Amino acid sequence: MNELRDLYQEVILDHCKRPRNFGKLEHAHVAHGSNPLCGDQLTVYLLLDGDVIRGVKFEGSGCAISTAAASMMTQALEGKTRAEAEHLFERYHDMVTGRGEEGDDFADLGKLAAFEGVQEFPVRVKCASLSWHTMKAALEDEETEVTTE
Ligand code: ZN
Repeated sequence: MNELRDLYQEVILDHCKRPRNFGKLEHAHVAHGSNPLCGDQLTVYLLLDGDVIRGVKFEGSGCAISTAAASMMTQALEGKTRAEAEHLFERYHDMVTGRGEEGDDFADLGKLAAFEGVQEFPVRVKCASLSWHTMKAALEDEETEVTTE
């Protein structure tokens, strides 16, 4: 179990050092998010082809957790339908906020389960979920600025 935990932290560190899908996307759905508590700022770009997410990128600056969470989110969403993305958002949100059912190991979230430990640190929950809230706003084409406050 400890071994697994180390591995997960390695995944987070790796994505923090080398964020995937960092940059802009043209003709995409765009939303901005900020977490004033930590200073995280994100812009999420979503390219939809009908109901399917064909591209996800992000830009911005933030702490290690928010950067890694955004990076891993972009990989998790590629090729997903709108409904699948929303389901993933709910599962992820339940996990980081500790609202999952007892005994739920969130194995269906794959690598994203690395963020399960975040629930122990309420301040970090916002860092880990900022990109997801921002993605949901982009998906729904909300013009409003997302803030975790
Ligand atoms: Zn943060």
